[in-house]
Amino acid sequence: MNYLVKKAFAELFPEKEIDFDARIKYSKAFKGYNAKVKYTRNFMEFRLSHSWKEVSDEIQIGLLQSLFNKIYNKNIKTINIELYDIFLKKVPLLTPKTKTDPVLEQSFNRVNKEYFNEMISQPNLVFGGNNFHTLGTYDYGTDTIRISELLKKNEQLMDYVMYHEMLHKKHKYKSTGKRTIHHSRLFRQEERKFRDPEIEDKLKNFLKKEKFKERFWFL
Ligand SMILES: [Zn+2]
Repeated sequence: MNYLVKKAFAELFPEKEIDFDARIKYSKAFKGYNAKVKYTRNFMEFRLSHSWKEVSDEIQIGLLQSLFNKIYNKNIKTINIELYDIFLKKVPLLTPKTKTDPVLEQSFNRVNKEYFNEMISQPNLVFGGNNFHTLGTYDYGTDTIRISELLKKNEQLMDYVMYHEMLHKKHKYKSTGKRTIHHSRLFRQEERKFRDPEIEDKLKNFLKKEKFKERFWFL
C-alpha cells in the first residue's frame, strides 16, 4: 500500500478501515497535472501525470482525497483538498508556454483587449485539427486553449469561442467534491456581454451549413 494513499484515506475517513490495496502510478501518458483513478472492489490505481512527482506530499494527498470524494460520492473538505484546489488554480503559472499560432494569437489579443483589459495571460494556443465535434476547450492542466480549425473560416465565431474559453481561464471552476461547476451563473452572465447578441444563432447556422450535424459542444 502506498503511504500517501494510506494517509489520504485515513485523514479523510478516520472511522473507516482500509479494505483495499492501492498504488500510485506516475505516467508520462498524461500531460500537465492531470490525474485519474481506476478501481475495482479491492484495488485502486491512481494514475498521476509525471509532473506530480515533483509536487509536495501535502498537495498530492489533497489530490488523492478529492479523488476519494468522487469514488465514495462524498463532499468532505480537508486542508489538503484546499491546498490542492489552490495549487490547481496556480497551475497555469507553472506551465511552460510553448505552443502558439498567429491566427489564434490575433483572436486572443482582440478578445483580451475588448473584454479583459488585457489582463488574461496568454495560454498555449493550438488548433485542434482532428476533433470536429469540439469547437473549443480549455485545459487547466496544461493551460491550453484548443480551437477547432473549422472556425478559421469565420473570425467573429472564432472570437466568440475564444472568449468562452478565456472565461474559463478567468473564472476557473468551483468544486463541491461531487460536482465541478464550470459554467457558473457569473460565467454565463459575462458570456452574454459578447459584442454580437445574435452570436449563438450565427454559430448554429454556421454549423448547420458546415454539415456539422452531429452533437457539438464547447467545454
Ligand atoms: Zn465552457
